Amino acid sequence: MVTETALATDVLVRTRTVGRMRVHALETGLVRLDGGAMFGVVPKPLWEKRIPADARNRIPLAMRCLLVETPDALVLVETGLGNKENEKFLDIYGVDNAPSDPRYPDRLQEAIAAAGFSVDDVSIVVDTHLHFDHAGGNTYRDGDGEIRLSFPNATYHVQRGEWEWAHRSNERTSASYLPHNFDPVMEAGRLELLEGDGEIIPGVSVYRTPGHCPHHQSVLLSSEGQTACFVADVMPTMAHLPLPWIMGYDVEPLVTLESKRALLRRAADERWLLVSTHDPFTPWGYVAHDGKQARLEEAA
Ligand SMILES: [Zn+2]
Repeated sequence: MVTETALATDVLVRTRTVGRMRVHALETGLVRLDGGAMFGVVPKPLWEKRIPADARNRIPLAMRCLLVETPDALVLVETGLGNKENEKFLDIYGVDNAPSDPRYPDRLQEAIAAAGFSVDDVSIVVDTHLHFDHAGGNTYRDGDGEIRLSFPNATYHVQRGEWEWAHRSNERTSASYLPHNFDPVMEAGRLELLEGDGEIIPGVSVYRTPGHCPHHQSVLLSSEGQTACFVADVMPTMAHLPLPWIMGYDVEPLVTLESKRALLRRAADERWLLVSTHDPFTPWGYVAHDGKQARLEEAA
């Protein structure tokens, strides 16, 4: 039985290198989501062996972000959940992301300081998509109740299609999109809308991995022949490595299937370090592929 005391989220910052880049995995807290919804068509007797559920059938999920030191910029990939939600919301989703030091509004900003930087140093933010557990820390509520940009010197990046999708939400998708996480960024003129795959700065590029939402993107970091991929919700945990293990939350699960099939093939062939957003136990690792399926080769 795995206990929550063994969670990877207990370590605020982990640092390694990708070529000449230093990358810091920032543990910005936990969210707890329904285990059945997280594993879609997979029966509970299978998934609960991988991630045990609590009395409300919820499983603990990390909200891991990545801070990347490149020669050109300090880049932040994803921003966690932030500090703007009320008690009822925090209870429903089992959110645990309060900082241990009250000078910081949330654990993301505390982790950036622990990695040796200030929020003012971040010049590029990449949102893989705009769901509240991935883009909530784009903004924060200050002591006077005002909503402010968390990274005042940064340009934020998301796919144009995701921006439009977030503003065309329907009864199935609207609970995930909270406008105070992204509209203030646009109003401040700080949001750059991307049109498909491409490089943001040398060594940092995005590529579309649709399915969870139609314009979801993953982030690739490349330096001196080494590559890391911040996977995000195309494969939310390492338990989702088997191809049919796809979230019930996904709006296009068969599109996720193909995105994940292609991603895992390349990740094995090109030896990408995969960085997981939500895995509560394994922040990153390499995969091997036997021609049919991928498995975790090395939890780095
Ligand atoms: Zn997510």
